[in-house]
Amino acid sequence: MSVAAILNSKGRDVIAERGETLLGDVCKVLGKNRIGAILVTDPEGHIEGIISERDIVRAIGESGTAALSEPVSRFMTSKVVTCAEADSINEVMAKMTAGRFRHVPVLEDGKVAGVISIGDVVKHKIAQVEHEAEQMRQYITMT
Ligand code: AMP
Repeated sequence: MSVAAILNSKGRDVIAERGETLLGDVCKVLGKNRIGAILVTDPEGHIEGIISERDIVRAIGESGTAALSEPVSRFMTSKVVTCAEADSINEVMAKMTAGRFRHVPVLEDGKVAGVISIGDVVKHKIAQVEHEAEQMRQYITMT
């Protein structure tokens, strides 16, 4: 199964903020949308970084709540690992495992086309395993 198949079922909405957005406002966006990370983009929509709940926990641990009044660009990860729609779920899983992160933006023609989370990957992997088990059951009962 491909990244495109996941995006076709979950949608291609991308939530992004600018680097100068305050960390406290990013927290509100994460909470309101029930997500764990958002992209930081420039005015043209190019990725400048990614900020996840882990970065926010680290920032508050180090600087206290004063961090919430700082721009998100101070705490984001700038070197963002991405994938393409044609990539397989297994390739995305390998990237998540190697980089120890749970979110991967999808890039098409240099533009952000969606975001895949570890929750999306697990959901589709379980569906795939259940489908294969069902096919195996049918094959066994037919023979
Ligand atoms: P996460 O597991 O996604 O909450 O992220 C854990 C750490 O990896 C945080 O420091 C994130 O900023 C960073 N991170 C998340 N996604 C990516 C990504 N696709 N590429 C690089 N770093 C990432």
